[in-house]
Amino acid sequence: MSVKNKPETLAAQALGQVDPETGALVPPIHVSTTFARLPDYSLVDGRSYIRDHGPTQEQVESVVCELEGGADAISFSSGLAACTAAFHALKSGDHVVVSDTIYHGVLNWLEQFAIDRGLEYSLFPAGNIEQFEKLIRPNQTRLVWLETPANPTWAITDIAAFCAVAHRYDACVAVDSTCATPALSQPIKWGADLVCHSATKYLNGHSDVLAGMLVTASRDSLWERIRQHRLLAGLTLGSLEAFLLLRGIRTLFVRVHKQCENAMALAQLLETHHAVERVYYPGLPSDPGHQVASRQMRGGFGGMLSMLVSGGRQEAIDVACRAKVFKRATSLGGVESVLEHRKTSEGDLTNTPENLIRISAGIEHVDDLLADLKRMLDG
Ligand SMILES: *Cc1c(COP(=O)(O)O)cnc(C)c1O
Repeated sequence: MSVKNKPETLAAQALGQVDPETGALVPPIHVSTTFARLPDYSLVDGRSYIRDHGPTQEQVESVVCELEGGADAISFSSGLAACTAAFHALKSGDHVVVSDTIYHGVLNWLEQFAIDRGLEYSLFPAGNIEQFEKLIRPNQTRLVWLETPANPTWAITDIAAFCAVAHRYDACVAVDSTCATPALSQPIKWGADLVCHSATKYLNGHSDVLAGMLVTASRDSLWERIRQHRLLAGLTLGSLEAFLLLRGIRTLFVRVHKQCENAMALAQLLETHHAVERVYYPGLPSDPGHQVASRQMRGGFGGMLSMLVSGGRQEAIDVACRAKVFKRATSLGGVESVLEHRKTSEGDLTNTPENLIRISAGIEHVDDLLADLKRMLDG
């Protein structure tokens, strides 16, 4: 009997697998680094050494692959290891086109390592499809890197429209979907070739695991090189982390939906507050990305929002310093709400405004969050 369950069900039950030996609903954590060969010297399911792949890693990879609707998924020791693996898999002379509004670590890697490795890259203003197409170099542009919603202004990119252009030039499109999560968006459905996650964030959701994930729409030659890169650079996710990640994903949908609700309520408060110059949240009808996000995302607009505090750097930091419920910390996607002065984290490389505060909404009672935010802004 084969039943096609909905994604919420697949996530909650980690695909419904039950340990065949013990009947355990929760799979064991396989910590062995090495796997015995059979008497005929063959391997069991091809497993030899954990750096290549292990059973706990494979379990969480299969869940993420299913939730994204991909052909294959591999886990990494961090989100950045996953993002940069896609660039490492390219060849000298290849060209990549990258949105200028993306996670700062990816920009940092390109800035410091791309040119020395023979990789050329061009940046386009997030979401601007005309500028984007102008930068594509026929027969040289191999990869396009998008993030939506994108750090730290939550700019929305129309994945289907960008894929249609990129594919005319035979370029692959990778989407960093960390902040959308498969609970709200499936980039492969819109034409993406690769989906990237910092699983450290929403997929795990509890601020206690560093992990990354790449999912592919097809097992093509680029994918094989990415797999080889992970193997030979040793970017493997640890077994304990893989187990925790699998456990975190069981509650992905309820966490993310609650975070979307809380983020929307916070954005609505900010929109009317006199001490706020601007709010960035794709869920607000006034946000430039709202229409595309309404079509591309389902079930919510994400748990991330930002605000420009009236004044400058100091006024923004003063607001953050008055937080009592929100924690002043970097990172995002955890069950606890955090906020940060983003420019302090990103450094000089980005053009993030000095008065921008980034908020990751958690799953707390919304009244406590609203009261704290109001107190912070009222001074
Ligand atoms: C955090 C983050 C990354 C990097 O992931 P790590 O797990 O911290 O290495 C990449 N992309 C986005 C959108 C992120 O938020």
